[in-house]
Amino acid sequence: MTGTIIQLAYLFAAALFILALRALGQPATARRGMQMAAFGMLVAVCATLLDQRIVTYEWLAVGVIAGAVIGYPMGMWVPMTAMPQRIAFSHAFGALAATLVGVGEYLHGLHEHTLTHGQTLALGFEVLLGTLTVTGSLMAFGKLQEILPGAPVTFRGQNVFNLSLLATGVVCLAWLVVAPFSPQIFLAILVIGFLVGILMVLPIGGADMPVVVSLLNSYAGLAAVATGFALDNNILIVVGALDGASGFILSMAMSKAMNRSFANVLFGAFGAEKGGDGAAASAAGGEMVAIGFDEAAMRLAFAQRVIIVPGYGLAVAQAQHQVRELVGLMEKRGVDVRFAIHPVAGRMPGHMNVLLAEAGVSYDKLVDMEDINDRFAEADVVLVVGANDVVNPAARTNKSSPIYGMPILNVQDSKSIIVLKRGRGKGFSGVENDLFVSPKTNMLFGDAKESIIQLGAEVKLA
Ligand code: NDP
Repeated sequence: MTGTIIQLAYLFAAALFILALRALGQPATARRGMQMAAFGMLVAVCATLLDQRIVTYEWLAVGVIAGAVIGYPMGMWVPMTAMPQRIAFSHAFGALAATLVGVGEYLHGLHEHTLTHGQTLALGFEVLLGTLTVTGSLMAFGKLQEILPGAPVTFRGQNVFNLSLLATGVVCLAWLVVAPFSPQIFLAILVIGFLVGILMVLPIGGADMPVVVSLLNSYAGLAAVATGFALDNNILIVVGALDGASGFILSMAMSKAMNRSFANVLFGAFGAEKGGDGAAASAAGGEMVAIGFDEAAMRLAFAQRVIIVPGYGLAVAQAQHQVRELVGLMEKRGVDVRFAIHPVAGRMPGHMNVLLAEAGVSYDKLVDMEDINDRFAEADVVLVVGANDVVNPAARTNKSSPIYGMPILNVQDSKSIIVLKRGRGKGFSGVENDLFVSPKTNMLFGDAKESIIQLGAEVKLA
């Protein structure tokens, strides 16, 4: 009877997870999606607590309390801009849990002499993927948090060496399946997995870390699937498969939005040569022309159509609320304002949508790149708020630029451009941007939040 209740609860939780993933695809329903997923997880955890195989509840209580004490502050107080490294850190813990379960189950089976070939396959797969996800995620965390150098660390024959090591891990796994009672081989898989995680992420630059984090997310999902098979737990299999597939699809989508092949992200050591030192410098070589707040505000206040391009700097400055207020002031004067959303603006997928939605900007004002790119020519003013790479014409014109081929927003087609940034800092890819020295462009230097507040005050006076 209890078994049936648990399986029904798992089915309900699995349905909630699938609906949650669907809801997460749209900004308007994303919050509901998160709530559904959290509720589904609560149902799954409660159902698991009914499992009669549980020997003691004390340690589970300790785990729940420790998880809540660590998880709550991480969820509430880590800023949005630090979200990629926070996610990487969480993956390391998730994968460590899968690895520990795998080790525990293997030792138990070894001790009881109950290991089967099938179970050993699941356990070996679990620890290989689990271990490489632990160290890979910690490396990604270190690079994103700038504890480790962000630039790719490369050596001759690196890809061949890494792939050979991974292949050795797979051979050990096959060996273990044939001879399950070989703890030395199991240990070798653990060590190889930890090493592969470090070595695979070493040659990948900080700029590509979010793609790596998302790929590791999919590995952690696959490790959970293996855990599910090893423990005979259906919800782990379903959730792991959803996690594995969605993480993989997200990594592919992110690579595509940056116009990079998946292989190039993983093995291309992006940022090692051209990108990191900004060698693909400005072709125009002109001067940036600054503008005063009063003049910028006049242009915005008397324009018919304004397009705002938000970028990573908006997130750093946390200027989303001030931007919404400025939009309100312009709209009161009859200005038509839209936001142009580039798929990789910021530092994580949907970053700009999340920030602007948080500030209460209505979703119909957020227009995706494909839909707005033809409308820049109609815009009187484009206000670029802390964006750089996503508006860099070098992606179209400079074949030697590391961002060559990345789709960009057609900002240069508009009648005039005002760029808000603090100084001459480069974008994520570390290359110069000719848009800033274009005759159509004026710079408004300063922190984006301060600048928007000033602009708002001036628009009120205009
Ligand atoms: P960029 O990182 O290219 O540029 C951000 C700009 O913001 C900088 O030039 C900086 O200039 C300015 N800035 C920083 N802080 C502030 C501040 N407080 N006030 C005002 N300006 C500020 O951002 P984009 O959004 O244009 O591009 C995103 C990049 O990230 C792309 O290269 C993309 O490929 C990459 N990426 C994105 C991922 C995603 O999922 N979104 C994932 C992986 C990579 P200054 O220092 O002069 O102020």
